[in-house]
Amino acid sequence: MVPVNPPWEPECGLASGVCPHCAGVRLIASAGESRCVRCGGVWATARVLPCPWPAIIVLDRGDRAMRVCASHAALSNVWELAGQSVRPPG
Ligand SMILES: [Zn+2]
Ligand SMILES: [Zn+2]
Repeated sequence: MVPVNPPWEPECGLASGVCPHCAGVRLIASAGESRCVRCGGVWATARVLPCPWPAIIVLDRGDRAMRVCASHAALSNVWELAGQSVRPPG
């Protein structure tokens, strides 16, 4: 369940595909399509990378905060994913 968001919400933008309907479920990319193994949803990979879902959740681990979509917020390695495109502190 992903709430409908006002149009001014920024996109999540993380470099991994996740299902907007199944929190924390990563999409399996194959032959130009990304598929959710839980609900069976299919998207063109180009449409879901970077993550296009609304960034409605603020994650804060003390030294850093970021806004992500509800599905990425439920991923256990979300900070790792974010670290792929951001220089680590220090
Ligand atoms: Zn799904
Ligand atoms: Zn996301």
